Amino acid sequence: MQRNDSNQQDLVRVAVIGTGISGSACAAGLVQGDAQVTLFEKSRNVGGRMATRRARWQDTTGAEQSVCFDHGAQSFTPVQPRFKAMVKRAVSAGCVTPWNPLVHAERLETTAPVLVVSPTMPALCSHLLGDLTVHFNCTVRRLQRAADGGWFVAADGMPLAGPFDQVAVAMPPAQAAVLVAGHHDDWADALMARRMEPCWTLMAVTDDVDWPWDMAEPSSGPLARVLRSDRVPGRTAPRGMAVWTAHATPEWTQAHLEDDPSVVSALLQDALRTQLPTVGPGAVAPRWHHAVVHRWRYARPELSGEVSVGSDGYLWDESLALGVCGEHLVGTGIEAAWQSGDELADAMAASFERPKPPVRAVVTAR
Ligand SMILES: Cc1cc2nc3c(=O)[nH]c(=O)nc-3n(C[C@H](O)[C@H](O)[C@H](O)COP(=O)(O)OP(=O)(O)OC[C@H]3O[C@@H](n4cnc5c(N)ncnc54)[C@H](O)[C@@H]3O)c2cc1C
Repeated sequence: MQRNDSNQQDLVRVAVIGTGISGSACAAGLVQGDAQVTLFEKSRNVGGRMATRRARWQDTTGAEQSVCFDHGAQSFTPVQPRFKAMVKRAVSAGCVTPWNPLVHAERLETTAPVLVVSPTMPALCSHLLGDLTVHFNCTVRRLQRAADGGWFVAADGMPLAGPFDQVAVAMPPAQAAVLVAGHHDDWADALMARRMEPCWTLMAVTDDVDWPWDMAEPSSGPLARVLRSDRVPGRTAPRGMAVWTAHATPEWTQAHLEDDPSVVSALLQDALRTQLPTVGPGAVAPRWHHAVVHRWRYARPELSGEVSVGSDGYLWDESLALGVCGEHLVGTGIEAAWQSGDELADAMAASFERPKPPVRAVVTAR
């Protein structure tokens, strides 16, 4: 996706902050519209809440074992035509695969096929980003505006970056609010008011047995969803073991938000144990090989709320050349996030044709 140096001088320079699915969609759309895109990401990898975590431990023989957990988003079902078209290309590229999980809610049933990303969930963002430049381990602290327009990005671990002609902020609302405050305070206030639900997630490895289901959605107790992760296409487990990802309900998480992770892990292991069949003549519970928890402070937007500025699925101020995208501006889930980023890219690209203000490397203090 990168152009050669002579062509790059004519391109509009855009900074995208965040490489979740909304930032990735925005960057991919901007490149189609002839922008030179640079991304900034606070983590080591792309994907945001389409996340994967590798766990390593030593088994009882001292041998090193490892597995991958998709501990954020796990699957999706496309609805809108534009999203479907992008997903179709991702299926052709081999990074998205249909899957028919056997689900246990009130009863055992096969659902309509869902889509999963292979080999792990962040691969869809990598697919969209291609070889675009991403600065990793780089938390953006401030956006600074030059006197005559043009943006500079102040991030941990690197010199001030810029100037950029446009900036897109692609992250959960409370984090986006920090970066737009001082530039667009009405956006910052509205984003701060957008409430997100938290989620404690247990990632565990037990003995393998012949489980009757791939996914359970308990109707009561601390757990909202349990996934037998190694049954997802493209995932594996060490021989004789089963890999689990269990998401707690928002209510349970809220009640235990500041608890010590070891306490949360023990409670969620108990909850998971009650979902798993016992095995053998003495009805023995499976042995645990590994367990760790992750706290998502900003997991999903509260469904009842909405952002009170703008009527589009993104925020864009052409005079400031500043935009915001993310699932919270459309609804919830991967498709909502993608749509927000894709639509913001269209709005930003529409202004490429219009004359842009001269950019001087003069930085205003904020
Ligand atoms: C536990 C859980 C389960 C879920 N299950 C599903 C599911 O099954 N199906 C579904 O469709 N959706 C699911 N979702 C929701 C889905 O993950 C989100 O809708 C989607 O991933 C949001 O994408 P985003 O780009 O808006 O934000 P994010 O994915 O949060 O991306 C924001 C990015 O910005 C980066 N960032 C933040 N602040 C800064 C900063 N200051 N500087 C630099 N970088 C920064 C972050 O590191 C991150 O990479 C789930 C979410 C969670 C947490």
